[in-house]
Parts: sequence; C-alpha cells; structure tokens
Amino acid sequence: QVPLKPGRSLMDWIRLTKSGKDMTGLKGRLIEVTEDELAKHNKKEDCWICIRGFVYNVTPYMEYHPGGEDELMKAAGTDGTDLFDQVHRWVNYESMLKECLVGRMAVKPIAAPKEITSVCEEKQKLNGMLPEKKVLSASSKDLTPSYDWFQTDSLITIVIYTKQKDMNAELVILDCEDKRLRGEIIVDDYSYLLEVDLYHAVQEDMAVNIAEKVGKVEIILKKKDNVHWKILGQPLESHNTFMKRMDRGLFYRKCKLVSKTEVTHDTKLFCLLLPESTHLRVPMGQHVYLKQIIAGTEVVKPYTPVLPFWPLDFKEPTCNGSAHIYLMIKIYSCGLFTQALDHLQIGDCISVSNPEGSFKKSQVQTSEDLFLLAAGTGFTPMVKLLNFALTEVNCLRTVKLIFFNRTEDDILWRNQLEQLALKDQRFEVQFVLSQPKKDWAGKQGMISSSLLSEFVKRSRKDSKVLICICGPTPFTEQGVQYLKDLGYSQEEVHPFTA
Ligand code: FAD
Ligand code: NAP
Repeated sequence: QVPLKPGRSLMDWIRLTKSGKDMTGLKGRLIEVTEDELAKHNKKEDCWICIRGFVYNVTPYMEYHPGGEDELMKAAGTDGTDLFDQVHRWVNYESMLKECLVGRMAVKPIAAPKEITSVCEEKQKLNGMLPEKKVLSASSKDLTPSYDWFQTDSLITIVIYTKQKDMNAELVILDCEDKRLRGEIIVDDYSYLLEVDLYHAVQEDMAVNIAEKVGKVEIILKKKDNVHWKILGQPLESHNTFMKRMDRGLFYRKCKLVSKTEVTHDTKLFCLLLPESTHLRVPMGQHVYLKQIIAGTEVVKPYTPVLPFWPLDFKEPTCNGSAHIYLMIKIYSCGLFTQALDHLQIGDCISVSNPEGSFKKSQVQTSEDLFLLAAGTGFTPMVKLLNFALTEVNCLRTVKLIFFNRTEDDILWRNQLEQLALKDQRFEVQFVLSQPKKDWAGKQGMISSSLLSEFVKRSRKDSKVLICICGPTPFTEQGVQYLKDLGYSQEEVHPFTA
C-alpha cells in the first residue's frame, strides 16, 4: 500500500466512474484488441492491461490504485492476470474497472476444454448401486476425488471419495440454495468441486458426515417430496473439476447480521449467521471476504473471524446446522467499507466468501515457543490461535503476545487477555502504546529491533519457535525484517497478509 493523494480514495474513484467521463478514450465503443495493439499501450499516460481476456485502460485509475502506480505499471501493455491473482484476486475488478473496459482480446484458436464427465447419465442406469468402475478408480494412483450418489425414499446421499487421509470439517464447504448444490473439498492447495442443479427440491437442513481416516465425505440431503430421482441433477459449469484453489473464483453466500456489540470506542463484534443450508468452518489463521454494493459498485474487503468470547476451553460447535461467524471490526470514521458495515441493521444480509489464507495448524502443533506480535486489529488472527495453542497444544512451553496500540482505550479484549495470563502460567501479554496518556506506566513506543530482541527469546537454546505477526502492512513488513536480522528463519516467522 502507498499513501494516496487527497481526493484519490476508492469512493472518489467510484464517483469519477459515475460522472459520465469517457474513461477509455473510445467514446463507449468496445474493440477487439490484438497482442500487438495491447503492447503499444505500455506507458503511464496510455496504459492498457489485460485481465482474463478483457482489456482495460487503467490510465485514469493510476492515482487511485492503493498499491501504487509502479505496481500497476508492471503489467502495462501485457496480460496481467497472474500478477493480479497473486496480489488481490478477490478484488472485483470487473465492477471497479467497468468504465475502463476497452474490449476483448482478439481470439486465438485454442484447444477445446476437457469435457465435464457427467456421472448423472451413468446414474440413470445404476439405480443407486455403486459402480464397480468407481471403486476401482479410488484405489488407482489418480488423486482427483470422485463422487457417487444413492437414494432412499426420503434421502439423497452423495458420497465424495477425496482420496485424502486427513479429511476434516474445515475442508468441506457446502452450500445449497434453490436446488443449486455446491460442494467444495479442499485437498492441500487444490479444490474439488461438485456443482449441480438438483433434479428435485431438498429441505434446508442437510447433514455432512466425514470419515476422516478414509477421506470419505457424505452429504445427506432430505428430499422435499418423497419421489424417486432419476438423476442427481444437471451438472453446472465447474462441476466435477479439480483445480488449484487460487484458480477457483470466490464463492459468496448471504449471511444475516444477528448482533453487533461494542468492543472499544471504535471496534465492534459483528455476529453473522450462515444459512442453514451452508456448511462452513473458518480455519484458524484464515480470513473471509465480505462484499457489499456501495454506490453501485461491488466492494470487497477481508476480515479474520474471531471467537465470540474467551473461556479457555471454548470449542467451535462441530454439529451440523447453522453456524455463526464472529468478526471484530474497527469502524473508521472515513472508511468506505466499515462505514457501510456500521450502517447495517440487525436482520440485514451481507455476502461472505469461502475462507482463504496460508496459515497451517501444523505450524503451531509442533512449536515449543509461540510469539504473537499484533498491532490494532491485527490482533484478530491471534484470537483463535491463542485459544488453540493454550487448549490443544501440549508441547508449548511459552506463549507470549506483544500488542501494539495507540492508547489504552484502543486495546482490544484487554481484560480477557489479562485474565488469560492469570489463568495460564504459560501465557504472558505485554501492551505497548505509541500515543499513551501521561499516566501509562507500561511500555511505550513502536515496533523496534531492540524491543523484539528482548521479547522474542527461545525458552531453551534450540527450542522450536513460531512467531506470528499481524497489523498495518508497514508494521508487519518491519517486524519481519527485524526478525530476519535477529536470525530467525523464514519457517519460524508467519506474517498474516491478504
Ligand atoms: P478505507 O476506506 O480503506 O480506509 C480506512 C482508513 O485508512 C481511513 O481512515 C482512510 O483514510 C485510511 N486509508 C486507507 N487507505 C489509505 C492509504 N492508502 N493511505 C493512507 N490512508 C489510507 N480489519 C478489521 O477491523 N478486522 C479484521 O478482522 C480484519 N481482518 C483483515 C484481514 C486481512 C487479511 C486484511 C488484509 C485486512 C483485514 N482488516 C481487518 C482490514 C480490512 O480489510 C479493511 O482494510 C478495513 O476494515 C478498512 O476498510 P474501509 O473500507 O472501511 O477503510
Ligand atoms: P492502528 O490503530 O493504526 O495501529 C496500531 C498500532 O500500530 C499503533 O500503535 C500504531 O502506531 C502502530 N503502527 C501503525 N503503523 C505503523 C507502522 N508503519 N510501523 C510501526 N507501527 C505502526 O491499527 P488499526 O487501524 O487497527 O489497523 C490494523 C491493521 O491491521 C490494518 O491495516 C488491517 O488491514 C491489518 N490487519 C491485517 C490482517 C491480516 O492481514 N490477516 C488482519 C487484521 C488486521 P501510530 O499510529 O501511533 O504510529
């Protein structure tokens, strides 16, 4: 992120796009762009970029780009899809840049995409029995999951063979709305998708059973009418595909705001209710994206779910059915997204995406010393982490949190943290304030090498450490650099970023 000039916020950009100004220089005409033509527009004052086959004139957007002009120029006159996906594939550029659309890339002949195999057709003949062929393929070397389905009078059971030993509820994301069933299974960095327009309607509540050891996922749907289904349904576009998670578009479902409680003077805990027909757990260290339409433009921002409160032995309910997502969100007085969020009424809905993030549970499970460095709402990923570390990781000897804030009033969950430290000998918390009032007796200042060298110390000479860091981007970047200079390896440091 770079500081933007005054008058160059996202809201200013939205206003400009609505002003009727000709943003492409083509007076609303759309053209076919060849690679040669694209390459010619590679200067700041004349910059075209192609994303997923569509070409945008991004010159008017330059000064509004939160990542800065130089970042945008890296893709000038070329196909910037990969670069875009690496940095912020969650940003809805189609909506943000719709007025900058120049046209499509001229089509080059390409190989026809692989056909989607329709298990449904097979099923017409199978009448609910497992096909022999499928059983065989499960034991083959192919890692692509496969599925099957069968029915009783009242139930439809879909079985997904993930071919993955350590399956668990966090790796299964299910949604069913208006007969449209979407089931995503996460297998390492890959995602398997089942996406079907069901043959008949089903009830909202569904069950998910996971046989963890054998990697079998069962989705049990209740038929609305006790009729015999000839087929499971019509396969939708991405049905039965297995691809890199990063290449799969984000999926959103509408969640209801059920409560909003104050945490500090500017931060609130939002409780969102997932639809009954959604099965989704946000893993520790991962975030979701919220999406709202603001002034006619889709705006998306990431948020990291926390726990609703903090008794030490809190466990997220593992039962099927509706679940809640808790978000601790700071409302900025001139923040575009958070102002709109703050105006949501109880009962209003907001779109919530599937979880994302690179943090792995195993990073904590094997550590002996855990150090958490948080600034402001950078505290949010630390909540589930702390809970997990102190309740489920036996090999941990020390867990320390250093929490940077401006003033005492800004400290999130201060009481809970202090109580936690009293309750568990392994846990210690330190607050550091950058703008304390006169009576503050604790530490003050900013993140620094000397502060970190004092704080991050191995409990034993060779103890295995994990250091997690989260806050404003420059804070996180500085912290990572200091830790590197202090001799900590890349594997020992986990920065939370988008
Ligand atoms: P914006 O309109 O973007 O502005 C926010 C404030 O910053 C304003 O005061 C604005 O003036 C200033 N500002 C914005 N951009 C600039 C700039 N380039 N230069 C100078 N000043 C600027 N936040 C939470 O509260 N809770 C979370 O759990 C949480 N999780 C996150 C997880 C991830 C992975 C990431 C990347 C961010 C997370 N955030 C979280 C931050 C969140 O995504 C938003 O950035 C935040 O809510 C502000 O959004 P906004 O649209 O209201 O603010
Ligand atoms: P804030 O109140 O602005 O800052 C918290 C503390 O950090 C203050 O003491 C502040 O000091 C200090 N700080 C700010 N910028 C710094 C810098 N460049 N170097 C060193 N110290 C710095 O924080 P906030 O408004 O809550 O913002 C939290 C940030 O965390 C947001 O940017 C959000 O995007 C990010 N976040 C990221 C994730 C994630 O990636 N997973 C999750 C949650 C939040 P001064 O202001 O006094 O200088």
